[in-house]
Amino acid sequence: MSDVQGMSSPHPPLSDKGRVVSGKLANEDISIDLNLRPKRLSGFVGQEKVKENLKIAIAAAQKRQESLDHILLYGPPGLGKTTLAYIIAAEMGVNIKVSSGPAIERPGDLAAILTNLREDDILFLDEVHRLSRIVEEKLYPAMEDFVFDIFLGKGPAARSLRLNLPHFTLIGATTRFALLSPPLRDRFGAIYHLDFYDKSAIEMILKRSSAILKVPVEGEGLVQVARRARGTPRVANRLLKRLRDYAQVMADGVITREVALEGLSKLEIDSVGLDDVDRRVLHTIIDKFDGGPVGLDTIAASISEEADTIMDVYEPYLLQLGFLERTPRGRAATRLAYEHLGLPYKKVCQPQVGLWNHKQAQTS
Ligand code: ADP
Repeated sequence: MSDVQGMSSPHPPLSDKGRVVSGKLANEDISIDLNLRPKRLSGFVGQEKVKENLKIAIAAAQKRQESLDHILLYGPPGLGKTTLAYIIAAEMGVNIKVSSGPAIERPGDLAAILTNLREDDILFLDEVHRLSRIVEEKLYPAMEDFVFDIFLGKGPAARSLRLNLPHFTLIGATTRFALLSPPLRDRFGAIYHLDFYDKSAIEMILKRSSAILKVPVEGEGLVQVARRARGTPRVANRLLKRLRDYAQVMADGVITREVALEGLSKLEIDSVGLDDVDRRVLHTIIDKFDGGPVGLDTIAASISEEADTIMDVYEPYLLQLGFLERTPRGRAATRLAYEHLGLPYKKVCQPQVGLWNHKQAQTS
């Protein structure tokens, strides 16, 4: 059913440091991801609006006996974009081939992938915002007219050869919608945004996962895990797996409320799911930059972290919690962030240009 092209895994590069609360794929996730991934839409918890729209699109395409329109899925890592792509293929009863933006280096790589597709197949491209411009431009006619132009030779003897491609469906996934070029964005017939899951959806995912992994749990145990899973199924499953180990070694194997709380505190994850890096981001803004606003690159440099990782993994959840605010001049910590860290709130002062000019005029 599935096949991988142009890369060795259907995922973006593994998150380097394997942090427990990162939504990015880590080594430890590979085996559980395969086991726990729901196979059909009925098993996919949450994201009701997306599921509803997909059901209609799939039913309509099947009725017309046509391939699906190209689909773009975007949202933070670990929310189910890859899972949905596989589910769409299963619901449509077609093959899926998988690659990613950075894995397709040259137009020839893209030609090899596209010419290997069969009618109605799905091509899943992860990190689609990382396609090179030259490859991206070759993708436009493939998406629009199902053709691929190859140029042979150079100079006056050069000729072009047009290959007809099967009618395929491109499912693109990205964590950075804003980095997608407008011409590529416009070529997707449907664009779905995956949002963080609410606690009850994460609890349902945890129940399902604990049943599949045969982990004995008590209801309150799962509630504690769900609270700290950052609304992200991948994080929830990873915490469950870590707590299974903890329960087996430190208790009698059952994840009770107490076992969950103890295990989670050993992992240094606080009551709302923040880890050490989240706290360092907030402390940096508050302690070093008076609460902000401060640019993301400055924050990243201050805590020796990559700006991309902060933007993909940490910032979306801090924004969702209302701990961080994005302003035109950078990121600022909110009152909620101060309260959560137990610090007295200092109102972020925006410089008043008029006042400053007046004072400057007086002293000069
Ligand atoms: P993404 O591609 O957005 O990074 P994945 O599709 O790889 O995320 O999902 C990560 C893991 O989370 C999957 O292996 C799956 O087990 C689980 N998962 C994601 N979404 C759901 C969902 N809606 N219901 C159940 N499990 C989910």
